[in-house]
Parts: sequence; C-alpha cells; structure tokens
Amino acid sequence: MTDPTAEPGAAAPPSGRSEPNPQAERDRALMARAFAEAEAAAARDEVPVGAVLVEAATGRVLAAAGNRTEADADPSAHAEILAIRAAATTRGRPRLPDCDLYVTLEPCAMCAAAISFARIRRVIYGTPDPKMGAVDHGPRFFAQPTCHHRPAVTGGVMAEASAALLRAFFRAKRQRPPEP
Ligand SMILES: [Zn+2]
Repeated sequence: MTDPTAEPGAAAPPSGRSEPNPQAERDRALMARAFAEAEAAAARDEVPVGAVLVEAATGRVLAAAGNRTEADADPSAHAEILAIRAAATTRGRPRLPDCDLYVTLEPCAMCAAAISFARIRRVIYGTPDPKMGAVDHGPRFFAQPTCHHRPAVTGGVMAEASAALLRAFFRAKRQRPPEP
C-alpha cells in the first residue's frame, strides 16, 4: 500500500540524512538575516518583523529592515516596505524584477501590493499570519485577477523561530502596565 500522504510523483524520502538543497540552504541563511532584523525591532519595542531584499543571482543583500511604525509614527513603515523603498532608491528605479524578498511574517495586503508593484521575483516568508496575512490568507492578493505581477512564494522558512519571537513580544506587551 502506498503512503496516502505522499505527494503524487514525489521521490521516496532518502533513508537517513536528506540531500543538500542549495536553494533551501540559502533561504535559511537569508531568513536568518531577516530574523536578526526582527530581533532588533523587538529591542526597539516594535512588532518584531524583519525583511531583507536580495539580488537573486548573487545573493547580495541590497536592503535590510525591521518594522519602524512606532519610531517613524508611520503606519506604512512595515519591514517589507522599508526594504523595498531602500533598494529601489539605491538602484534609482521603482522595479526590482531580479530581486527576492525574505520576510519573517506572511506579508499583509499593503506589503503584498508593494511586492507586486516592485515586480519582485520571489517572496520567502517565515510564519503564516491567519489574521493579517494576505498571501496565503485573507485577500490572497497575488491570486486576484487584478494582480498583474505574481511572485513565486515559499512560506514557512524558520517559521517557528519567528512565531516564538512574536509570541514573546505580545506576551510581554500584555503583561506590561498600560502607559499613562
Ligand atoms: Zn505589511
């Protein structure tokens, strides 16, 4: 009897150690950079989400950012927006079709729109976000007929670490006495 949970056509899992997968290795390494930005955001008392924008061909990091909505008093200062804006400014053009975006949390609708407008090649996110996410939840922005650029999407990279960071942040916020 075949395994009913197996993907159709998927190769049998190798016995013992899995084969090295260069893209998965690189995704983890770059997500670790985004995670460091999320940790830095938490230290600034911002919602801990981090992002890095990477030149796909070389893996070179063009921009890295964490949330700055409190510091900048700007509701649009999400990590993804800041990284896209910084890279586009550096490049001197508004589209980044040769770039990949790594972000620790599933992007919201605003960020999904910006990712599409920037023509980003691929989005790699960490923790799924059933409440505010707009890639695999809610509006599913890239699946709409009005979306004219759909990046490739990989979710769940370092998902547990990013979820734990968010949980710890919001738990600490709830336990803190309200500000006067
Ligand atoms: Zn966002």
